[in-house]
Amino acid sequence: MSSPTISASTVGFVGLGHMGTPMASRLVDAGATVRAYDASPDARAAFAAAVPGATVVDTAADTATGAEAVLLCLPDSDVVEAVVAELDAARVIVDMSSSEPLRTRALAEQLADTGRVLVDAPVSGGVSGARAGTLAVMVGGPDDVVADLEPLLAAMGRPRHVGPVGAGHALKALNNLMSAAHLVASSEAVLVGEEFGLDPAVMLEVVNGSSGRSGSTENKWPNHILPGTYGAGFGLGLMVKDIHIALDLAASTSVPTRHAAATVALWDEALAELGPTADHTEIARWLRAHKEAS
Ligand code: NAD
Repeated sequence: MSSPTISASTVGFVGLGHMGTPMASRLVDAGATVRAYDASPDARAAFAAAVPGATVVDTAADTATGAEAVLLCLPDSDVVEAVVAELDAARVIVDMSSSEPLRTRALAEQLADTGRVLVDAPVSGGVSGARAGTLAVMVGGPDDVVADLEPLLAAMGRPRHVGPVGAGHALKALNNLMSAAHLVASSEAVLVGEEFGLDPAVMLEVVNGSSGRSGSTENKWPNHILPGTYGAGFGLGLMVKDIHIALDLAASTSVPTRHAAATVALWDEALAELGPTADHTEIARWLRAHKEAS
């Protein structure tokens, strides 16, 4: 049953891609009135077919009409800043993209000059988590505004207030750095095991009951890599963007991160060969191809 709080809500939503579509769909299912927009006509048409309960509007600015908040699920900080520049009528903007924390802070300060609030609420859990409404939502912003947003965010997953504005984006980048490292580490380990004569399926079964397990071994390997489908729905270009954000964040601190630098260098190489639209799980296939070529 939808909560009374959210069924009284009108929400703007910009960015109807792999994540935005199922996230906005959860809001509609929870009873909110959703005004949705994407720059791509194809994405708007696909969204209208997939989520008939939402209203698709013609501009980003139109999403703000009557909305208590406008939610963004866009590729990166460049796009977020460009879209926010069109959202004069939005008093509360929630950036659910994986953006750059320092730019998020600066944008929040700029909006505060005109009495508006930016909250960051990036997500983790992938397309399957977005469909199921089980995303981890990492929220940065002022206590009162974050409390008001709780019912909306809870329709998409498990919101956790992690600090002031920018804190969610910092945590999300660091999460993806760990995730990227786990995927490379498990891919190399599976290749070594196979070469030694181990069965990858057996390796994963045992590792998933052991200390080497991760989101890669529990989800990405069995669901997307072993079956050879590589359809997690998270682009390689977006993953590389995220881990560079983490590396820049590290550089803004005094913490040495040699392991992170090596991880990012490997992903950069994969991006150069596979391109940004490849699924990020294809790095496992890429590592195998390099083993076979060596
Ligand atoms: P996507 O590329 O599938 O969707 C992005 C959408 O933004 C596209 O439909 C695109 O047309 C639209 N867009 C681009 N520029 C625009 C503009 N100026 N105005 C309006 N719309 C515009 O990306 P995604 O996989 O949905 O990811 C969105 C964000 O969520 C990214 O920051 C990504 O890093 C993050 N994320 C993705 C996943 C995942 O599994 N796919 C998981 C967690 C977080």
